[in-house]
Amino acid sequence: MSRADRLESVVRDEGLDALLVTNLVNVRYLSGYTGTNGLCVIGDGLRTFLTDFRYVTQARHEVDGGFDRRQGRQDLLEDAAKSFPAGRVGFEDHHLTVRAHERLREFVPEGTELVPAGRLVERLRAVKEAEELARIREAARLADEVLRELVERGLPGRTERDVALELEDGMRARGSEPSFSSIVAGAANGALPHARPGDRVIADGELVVVDLGCVVDGYCSDCTRTFATGPLPDDAADVYNLVLETQVAALGEVRSGASCRGVDAFARERIEAAGQGERFGHGLGHGVGLEVHELPTLSRAAEGDLATGNVVTVEPGVYLPDRFGVRIEDLVVVADRGRDVISTFPKELQTVG
Ligand code: ZN
Ligand code: ZN
Repeated sequence: MSRADRLESVVRDEGLDALLVTNLVNVRYLSGYTGTNGLCVIGDGLRTFLTDFRYVTQARHEVDGGFDRRQGRQDLLEDAAKSFPAGRVGFEDHHLTVRAHERLREFVPEGTELVPAGRLVERLRAVKEAEELARIREAARLADEVLRELVERGLPGRTERDVALELEDGMRARGSEPSFSSIVAGAANGALPHARPGDRVIADGELVVVDLGCVVDGYCSDCTRTFATGPLPDDAADVYNLVLETQVAALGEVRSGASCRGVDAFARERIEAAGQGERFGHGLGHGVGLEVHELPTLSRAAEGDLATGNVVTVEPGVYLPDRFGVRIEDLVVVADRGRDVISTFPKELQTVG
């Protein structure tokens, strides 16, 4: 069954007659198209793919043969509306802008109603196929290699930016690229979960958070390790051990059928019990695939249960403002029984001189 076939049955189950897919990542997932202007309309036997003249040749090579490939004007929405069936046509309300929605309404034929449909394609994307898992595994393996290189080259005396650039060079040298801007954050910068590497020189005796990911054939990886650059104050080592123990224990909770909110709560309770609950301000993890943040989410607000084929991160962190941060993040494939951790870089505290 093709991805479009699976979406067609989801569309039907949602009481829709078709779905307009405008999110380009979703368009890629369904059709194979990697250009920057294109959309799909999927319904009962309906497989329309639209792009403009700039991408017609590319689309001929990339777009799955099950689609009716058409050329539209650059805006595409008016042409898309021509293929809408009568009845209820869903749109991706988390993606289509208010302005585009206004314009689309002008083109919708009589007898067709536009309905906000939410993240239907994202829900399909959350469960990976074997070939998707192979790419994510390869991306995780490359990130591990790049981390190994980092340890060999050392950290103290270099700026965070230099280290981050070197990580990204290492990815490119392997035919990959970063799945997001690499984070290298020492000492107090490490207390900012999304720190940007700057001109700060990494010193001896601090904690350095390194968060990186690679892309292989469009599929991302995501991994964080926190290194020491020399002897640490006792409380820093204690926080490291708390995060590590929590991370390892939380990995053990990842399995098909586990509640996404429950896995987050499990980790959170441990960190709260150690008196650091206030300092773990983000969710425990997120799905990874064509995007580095996708469904499912492991957080206090998460809905639903984990399913076989999900790929999620498990990344507790504790951040002490103005002092340091610790985050340890692995990438995990959810299996029928348990899980398969695909980040292999060691997690015991390593001192990188
Ligand atoms: Zn990360
Ligand atoms: Zn992450």
